[in-house]
Amino acid sequence: MTAKPEILVVGGGIIGASIAWHLADRGARVTVIDGGEPGGIATRNSWAWINVSWGNPEPYFRLRAQAMEEWRRLEREIPAVRVAWTGSLNWELPGDRLEAFAAQHAAWGYDVRCVGRDEAARIEPSLADPPELAVHAPREGAVDPLDVTRVLLSAACERGAMLAAGRFAQSIEVRGGRVVGVDTENGRLIADTVVVAAGAGAAELAATAGFVLPVSAPPAVLAATRPMPRLLNGLVMTPELQLRQAADGRLVAAASAEAAVDLLAAMKALFRPNRTTMDLDFQIVASRPIPRDRLPLVGRAVGIDGLYFAVTHSGITLAPALGSMAAEEILAGRRHPLLDPFGLARLQPC
Ligand SMILES: Cc1cc2nc3c(=O)[nH]c(=O)nc-3n(C[C@H](O)[C@H](O)[C@H](O)COP(=O)(O)OP(=O)(O)OC[C@H]3O[C@@H](n4cnc5c(N)ncnc54)[C@H](O)[C@@H]3O)c2cc1C
Repeated sequence: MTAKPEILVVGGGIIGASIAWHLADRGARVTVIDGGEPGGIATRNSWAWINVSWGNPEPYFRLRAQAMEEWRRLEREIPAVRVAWTGSLNWELPGDRLEAFAAQHAAWGYDVRCVGRDEAARIEPSLADPPELAVHAPREGAVDPLDVTRVLLSAACERGAMLAAGRFAQSIEVRGGRVVGVDTENGRLIADTVVVAAGAGAAELAATAGFVLPVSAPPAVLAATRPMPRLLNGLVMTPELQLRQAADGRLVAAASAEAAVDLLAAMKALFRPNRTTMDLDFQIVASRPIPRDRLPLVGRAVGIDGLYFAVTHSGITLAPALGSMAAEEILAGRRHPLLDPFGLARLQPC
């Protein structure tokens, strides 16, 4: 009898955790290592909206829509996975672009439509000045990103996966065109397959095996208030910020760092005056891995057997789909058709 191949996942953020869960659930031998604390870097600081987003080509829309369904599948598989399916109200874009976004996505079969001021006020009654026009997407949601990543990792461990914190992979070791493992400060880890799910750290690690991964890590700002009485029913996207209210009552806001928005002032301005004071709990600047063309980079490394990469923006949305599709490709050699446009070849230098 031949031993099961050993699969090493580098990175314990939501992408590595989801891949590890889907591999372990199918009976694979998996070890996850992380240079820091499992729970990721971008992941723990994420705003964590599960959505299709706007302005994307149709194949990427299809992948994201599938990922939203796969969150529902994951909730059934692992009861501790909980998504707040609150829907979203979006008036971030100018009116003509909101209308074009809603029309195009509705034509693609997505549950989305434009609403006027009265309906926006019914959806979010605490808004001081409801928008004249917004896009309402009732099937979108959010997760607690750190909590759900820990849940995935512990579910993987219950299926036999191993998890090692504080093990930074310094290089990918290749012999005769095949991966043999990774080198860490504390010695070599042998593996038949290495999955690089290292977020913004993926490019540096890929370079040790001769791969150029064009991934940058631009900053974004994340802020949260102390717990507040219920002010929001769902997620809102305004021209200044993105805002949701977590289960514990904290308002969680995100904005791009370049916009230099005073997030607390913007949050206060959004709501009718009320007697509860709004205080910041924290505000941080966090970076997120973004491939050069802003699309996922997921698949086998051409020319080196046993090496697989999974690096993406919108990793919270995509995690369940990328996890199950990567597991299928690694274990059965079948690439999901929805993943076809998102391989590595498109971004390699000629
Ligand atoms: C402010 C903000 C808002 C966001 N909003 C959303 C949103 O609304 N919706 C959405 O879908 N996405 C959003 N994102 C993006 C999303 O959070 C990321 O795409 C996702 O978390 C990436 O997960 P990851 O596992 O690839 O990376 P990470 O969470 O960064 O995890 C990578 C892990 O790899 C480890 N690592 C790196 N190098 C090595 C090495 N050499 N050896 C060992 N370990 C290593 C790191 O320690 C880390 O734990 C947001 C991100 C930010 C920062």
